[in-house]
Amino acid sequence: MDLFEFQGKQHLARFGVPVSTGGVAAGVDAAVATADSAGYPVVVKAQVQVGGRGKAGGIRACVDADQVRSAADAILGMVISGHTVRRVLVEGAVDIAAEWYASFTVDRSARRHLGLLSAEGGVDIEQVAADRPAAIERLHLGPAAGLAAEAAAGWAARAGLPPAAVPALLSLYRSFAEGDADLVEVNPLVLTGDGRVLALDAKVTLDDNAAYRHPEWAAFAGLEVLDDRERLAHEKGLQYVGLDGTVGVIANGAGLAMSTLDVVNQAGGSPANFLDIGGGASAAVMASALDVLASDERVRSIFVNIFGGITRGDEVARGIVAALARAGGGAPVVVRIDGTNAEEGRALLAAHQSERLVSRATMQAAAEEAVRLARA
Ligand code: GDP
Ligand code: MN
Repeated sequence: MDLFEFQGKQHLARFGVPVSTGGVAAGVDAAVATADSAGYPVVVKAQVQVGGRGKAGGIRACVDADQVRSAADAILGMVISGHTVRRVLVEGAVDIAAEWYASFTVDRSARRHLGLLSAEGGVDIEQVAADRPAAIERLHLGPAAGLAAEAAAGWAARAGLPPAAVPALLSLYRSFAEGDADLVEVNPLVLTGDGRVLALDAKVTLDDNAAYRHPEWAAFAGLEVLDDRERLAHEKGLQYVGLDGTVGVIANGAGLAMSTLDVVNQAGGSPANFLDIGGGASAAVMASALDVLASDERVRSIFVNIFGGITRGDEVARGIVAALARAGGGAPVVVRIDGTNAEEGRALLAAHQSERLVSRATMQAAAEEAVRLARA
């Protein structure tokens, strides 16, 4: 289970990681009330499960109630990378002297816990990792032994953090190991002007397999975490996961859908989604799938990849033609049909060939055409 920042901070605070005081609000008046009790200045932060909120205008510093009112009004309802902001976190603002990065996760291949620590937090840690990997100090830990105070002190020193950071790192590790998380990531962990260490941001993923021993996690469940496309797809009963690319993908079967993502990447494109329409690709299901992709403004072309098994290729082709006729305008569709009755299916598609509908015999050729059209 992925937590929102405000939930992640509640999780961290349980283990003694210091966090700012504040609260979450779903409306403008509630945001102002929270700010009043936290004390000014405050920071109003969009609660969505994507990074880069700062760059998207989702984080604003405010010195009085009027500013909180306009910030909350602007941020609530904002869409950040496809996620609509339904809540803001309002917290006392802090004066930052240094921004660090700290995380713990599971390194499956090493069968160890892995800590990452850097004195260069706050910015894109991926960028730091790419440009100056030496600026990130790694620490492998045996899950049974855990993190000892001395090891934490040495680790902090190697990363260029002062001894004052060590208690927060020990608490953060406990929030990971005892807290049954798969990931705890704090970026930035800050040193304040008056010498305190605080987790200013929190990304926490809890291990669902441990939910049975954490009744307190029930409070974290039930908040809307789907992006807008995913909500629409789930309403229509489709197996859909939103991604960030421009080539929409529709396939029958989860395995084929995964391979389709790979082949789109191989052809130099980037998939906009994973979508498995399951065994029977009826016209109705195909129309639903095309509707969902039409709602995604990033989609520039659509790759329909079907392997006929029990479902016959000619049925699928009829479904696609009918769905396209119903769906009206939209991105061009490239279809590859193989398997049972593929010949008949392709003949049907050939008869309806248009600017909007292209057929290719192989997965590779279809992927290349879809990528080309996405760039056109
Ligand atoms: P993200 O962009 O989604 O990762 O959001 P963060 O919570 O990490 O905030 C981004 C940046 O906003 C931080 O790196 C800080 O520089 C700044 N920020 C957040 N809270 C405060 C605060 O209380 N005071 C100050 N001065 N800056 C803050
Ligand atoms: Mn951050």
